[in-house]
Amino acid sequence: MKIHEYQGKDILRKYGVPVPRGIPCFYVDEALAAARELGGPVWVVKAQIHAGGRGKGGGVKLARSHDDVRTHARNILGMQLVTHQTGPAGQMVRRLLIEEGADIKKELYVGIVVDRGTQRVCVMASSEGGMDIEEVAAHTPEKIHKVFVDPTRGLTNAEADDLAAKIGVPAASAPAARVALQGLYKAFWETDASLAEINPLILTGDGRVIALDAKMNFDSNALYRHPEIVALRDLDEEDPAEVEASKFDLSYIQLDGNIGCLVNGAGLAMATMDTIKLFGGEPANFLDVGGGATTEKVTEAFKIMLRSPKLAAILVNIFGGIMRCDTLAEGLIAASRAVSLKVPLVVRMKGTNEDLGKKILADSGLPIIAANTMAEAAQRVVAAAKGGRQ
Ligand code: ADP
Ligand code: MG
Repeated sequence: MKIHEYQGKDILRKYGVPVPRGIPCFYVDEALAAARELGGPVWVVKAQIHAGGRGKGGGVKLARSHDDVRTHARNILGMQLVTHQTGPAGQMVRRLLIEEGADIKKELYVGIVVDRGTQRVCVMASSEGGMDIEEVAAHTPEKIHKVFVDPTRGLTNAEADDLAAKIGVPAASAPAARVALQGLYKAFWETDASLAEINPLILTGDGRVIALDAKMNFDSNALYRHPEIVALRDLDEEDPAEVEASKFDLSYIQLDGNIGCLVNGAGLAMATMDTIKLFGGEPANFLDVGGGATTEKVTEAFKIMLRSPKLAAILVNIFGGIMRCDTLAEGLIAASRAVSLKVPLVVRMKGTNEDLGKKILADSGLPIIAANTMAEAAQRVVAAAKGGRQ
């Protein structure tokens, strides 16, 4: 789960990481009031969307007067902000953060992720903050310094000081950098974050260390123990199809292709998508219906897939283990009728009561295309999708 910059900064503030004073707002009038409350002489008007690269996309503007604040707030609110992380359609800006302007002497980078290889939390830092860290990683990886943290000790003083020295923090600011780095680590750890990134972390003219940006993602499997973080969820920023799917407990990710996939089990879902691609097709989604593909779940899954105007065919690939194939067949028939399915439906099912399931589908009178193997199923759905919607 993602949150906005201003929400991330609220969390960092609680963990003692210095952040600029700022006020989130939804309207131009509120932006002006926020600027007055913060006091001058310089403010920054920042678009709040769940994507980075806002500065380059025109979503972060410096204001030197209240008039500037008004102009920038007017321009940014409601704009369709396109960044390298939003995709070409961009994301509509509905919230702003009005922040005091900081005196930037140097922009640094610090990010925390879980490293699967070492099974530890990895703190990465670089002297090359403010720009695309991906470019730094690709062309000058030696400028990114990493610490793999021992979970029983946390980020130690020595590790924090060593990182700070490596990214060029002067000795006078080392204590401030330690506070920021350890605070960020603690925030990441205690909130069950999957990503915590400050880009840029700045050194100010008077030697302070401040987080000018804040990006935090959280492990959705741990949200049950963080109601305070769930409360920060902004559904406007999420894909409407995915929001709908989560209501029905379906693991659903929208993709760009035209072949809908309804599969049980994440591994089989990924294998199914790979096989579709192998035969020249493009999946429209990832969908794991989990253990129980009930009629209700299958119906909702069909409805969600059909929201995409591009959808040209659906492939159902189910392994009947606990769930029996005949139950699935009944569910598919009821769901197809409920949504008056107009796109071709290819079904492959294996497992318990497979033959009975196939017979039920064949006897249904619905134009269901049966397939026996993964390859056959993928080839048939790719061919059916080329025929388009009927
Ligand atoms: P993004 O990463 O989405 O582009 P940032 O919050 O990092 O957004 O802002 C982009 C740039 O704008 C920063 O690298 C920094 O140079 C400048 N900036 C952001 N906030 C402030 C601030 N409060 N004061 C001064 N400059 C800022
Ligand atoms: Mg940034």
